[in-house]
Amino acid sequence: MKLLSGKTVFGGIAIGRIKVYKKCESDVKRERKEYSEGEIKRFREAGKIAVCELRELYNKSLTTVGEENASIFEVHQMMLNDLDYVEFIEHMIMTQKVNAEYAVAAAADNFAEKFQNMDDAYMRARAIDVKDVSERVIKILMGKEKNADNLLTESCIILADDLTPSETIQFDKDRILGFVTMSGSSNSHTAILARTMNIPALVGVNEELNLEFDGKEAILDGYNGILYIEPSQDIYEKMIERQRKDMESFQLLQDLKGKDNITKSGKKINIFANIGSLSDLGYAIKSDAGGIGLFRSEFLYLENDDYPTEEQQFEVYRTIAENMGGKKVIIRTLDIGADKKIGYFHLDHEENPALGYRAIRICLTRKEIFKTQLRAIYRASYFGNLSVMFPMIISHSEILEIKQIIQEVKEELTVQGLLFNDKVEMGVMIETPAAVMISDCLAKEVDFFSIGTNDLTQYTLAIDRQNNKLDAFYDAHHPAVLKMIKIVIDNAHAQGKWVGICGELGADLSMTKQFIDMGIDELSVAPSAVLPLRKLVREFD
Ligand code: PEP
Ligand code: MG
Repeated sequence: MKLLSGKTVFGGIAIGRIKVYKKCESDVKRERKEYSEGEIKRFREAGKIAVCELRELYNKSLTTVGEENASIFEVHQMMLNDLDYVEFIEHMIMTQKVNAEYAVAAAADNFAEKFQNMDDAYMRARAIDVKDVSERVIKILMGKEKNADNLLTESCIILADDLTPSETIQFDKDRILGFVTMSGSSNSHTAILARTMNIPALVGVNEELNLEFDGKEAILDGYNGILYIEPSQDIYEKMIERQRKDMESFQLLQDLKGKDNITKSGKKINIFANIGSLSDLGYAIKSDAGGIGLFRSEFLYLENDDYPTEEQQFEVYRTIAENMGGKKVIIRTLDIGADKKIGYFHLDHEENPALGYRAIRICLTRKEIFKTQLRAIYRASYFGNLSVMFPMIISHSEILEIKQIIQEVKEELTVQGLLFNDKVEMGVMIETPAAVMISDCLAKEVDFFSIGTNDLTQYTLAIDRQNNKLDAFYDAHHPAVLKMIKIVIDNAHAQGKWVGICGELGADLSMTKQFIDMGIDELSVAPSAVLPLRKLVREFD
């Protein structure tokens, strides 16, 4: 038995044979071509064919993994039409008299290196995209058959160096039991797709891809981040048992659908779901969440190459509101900065980004961006039960300023004859000790609080939540954090306002009883945690 371990991207157990996916990167040779115009023509024609293929892929993925994930193929089309990329290739063909294949391969290396050296994690992840799209063009230039590598004849666990989004999407989803990549980060599109597809997966195994594993029996333990190759009988039996238990608890939980989250003594808790995109909505609905307690709207911005327009945002918010059919949907306004960097925002490098220019601080200083988002949210409010909340609040004056901007937005929409709900509930996220300490005063201004325990723990304990080395010190159960939660609940209730928790601590089943005793009104958690939480709430007195 051999073990590989990596970072887990999605839990679950997969049992089956390994299929080693070896990229057949085209073996491109440098050739001298005197007739440069001919090579440029070949390159342009190959580019057009590649764009057609990408369009087809986009349409196919729209139906399988949703618009947001499909959009990577639009990014690839844009890369192919990018002026710098095209000019690099054509200039090389002209000045160095090389064949088109060679110039495209050189452009791929050059641009991938540029991306890899960028500060922004999202941009670094684009290195693989420029390689992917260039490989497509090279294959066309060399007359190679497309997609031939990705045919799967039986269900298997895919083992690869890294998988580009187009490779991932072309596999027959029904035949993938899980996948394991030697490199790749949990930020990559492949990881995002894996989560969306509900496939157990490991990334960053950090070993050479071994072709000899092809065809071998394996077990992928997505809970512990381990791939067992040719597992011992002992492990095999353990994993089968775990799989059986998973299935059993899954079935049991399904019986709770449609039931109330109510304790034996009659206290009702709202259990909502956290989502980051439209494609997560299906999971929230399937989990029977009572609403969306946190829509992390910044993912809309992170997935775009430019500021999402009012119209684009409106469509997303409206779709979520309509699909939730009258259930509450809380949109958290843009929360970028700190760990979430977006290239086109051109944010300066900061020594202490977690304490820096982020979230509401960006919105209140770049008001056009903020107003565009608020207009989209308010317009969408006409189509369902939308609420809005604001991240990283530290002062009363911020709330007054936000209210002033909302007033302006409403007046503008009214003048333009655009419909909106005049009574959209407005809340603040309690993520800073400052907000906790003035929560008595904030409670008079807003309709609800949602406690962001991820950040509240970071700022209360003065521990960078991104720093792996501090994991042992990052204690969300710290009495200081729990006391803060209690203060916030009491201050909100004193003004007749409701309070929820939308940070990870809300899904910690060892804390549920304590939160109920403190008087919490709502818990907003990952969709998969909704039913386990319901089960527990119903067991308490
Ligand atoms: C939080 O801080 O707890 C929270 C929910 O916000 P995020 O994790 O997106 O910062
Ligand atoms: Mg936060």
